[in-house]
Amino acid sequence: MSSRALKHFRFGKIFGFIRRSTSSRRQQIRQVRELYLKTDLVTKGCILCSGENFSLLAECDRYGFDLNKQICDDCGLVQTYPALSQSFLNEFYENHYRKLYTKSLDVDYAKFSEEQEEKGERFLGFLNTAISGQSLSNFSIIEIGCSSGGILNYLSAHCKAVQGCDLDANAIQFARDTHSLNAEVAHFPSTIPSGPKIFILSHVLEHVPNPKDLLHRIRSAMTPEDYAFVEVPGLNIVADGSYSNDLRSYFHIAHVADYTASTLASMMTSCRFETVTCDETVTGLFKRSENSEGEVVKSPGDSVGNVLKIEKTFRVFGSKKST
Ligand SMILES: [Zn+2]
Repeated sequence: MSSRALKHFRFGKIFGFIRRSTSSRRQQIRQVRELYLKTDLVTKGCILCSGENFSLLAECDRYGFDLNKQICDDCGLVQTYPALSQSFLNEFYENHYRKLYTKSLDVDYAKFSEEQEEKGERFLGFLNTAISGQSLSNFSIIEIGCSSGGILNYLSAHCKAVQGCDLDANAIQFARDTHSLNAEVAHFPSTIPSGPKIFILSHVLEHVPNPKDLLHRIRSAMTPEDYAFVEVPGLNIVADGSYSNDLRSYFHIAHVADYTASTLASMMTSCRFETVTCDETVTGLFKRSENSEGEVVKSPGDSVGNVLKIEKTFRVFGSKKST
């Protein structure tokens, strides 16, 4: 009998097999699966605390990929483990991600603009509240993973300057041509402006195989007056109706880790950041901490029991599942 914590059959291997064989995306799914079956998975321990004790949650993701979603018993971070390698992820993002997500290789960046500008508006409200007493117009914004630049374009009217980078060359071209943005194809910005800065990582950190490397790099480019804004899809808000309360829809091959407010704060603390504010959506603002790297402390809320509590909110055919 499986020791999987999420007992429902839709988290199991057989359901995964059926899902990936019958999906309208089955061609794309087969190509991605072939790629990771020939790539070695990584078993170097938890990406947050390096621990090697995990509890198995699920054996498939939303597309039916047979990957394990596990929770680290030591720090409580939910992650794909064994993990997908950097070489797999490079090829996945370059050749497969868009096709899998949108069923098409052609990307209509103009269509994303509205969604990105709405995010920009939301981020503006969040930042103005979080840095209360200071004016955003004194800050330069640097977005890592800016895609086609909709967020930066919205924020540009409210800040001193904006700039961005992304690995998607077509998105960067769109950002330059359509929004006349200072945007470059790069992992990390080649120049950092002087004066007060806010780094933005919007739906980036959950995709990065070594989040600590990226966070260390950002921290070293920051002064004590600067901020890092991080948003990732929150695990706990699945219980409030995100992803239709379905953890299987939330579990995604492209997500290296699945964060709560406390596991994101732990990740940031471990990279010498301090939390200004962080909620369960998960959206947070962080500053440099001058303390040395602390030990990762597990929050009691980040447990198998919490994941089971989220699953209890799942509804089948509109009626609450009996428990
Ligand atoms: Zn851990």
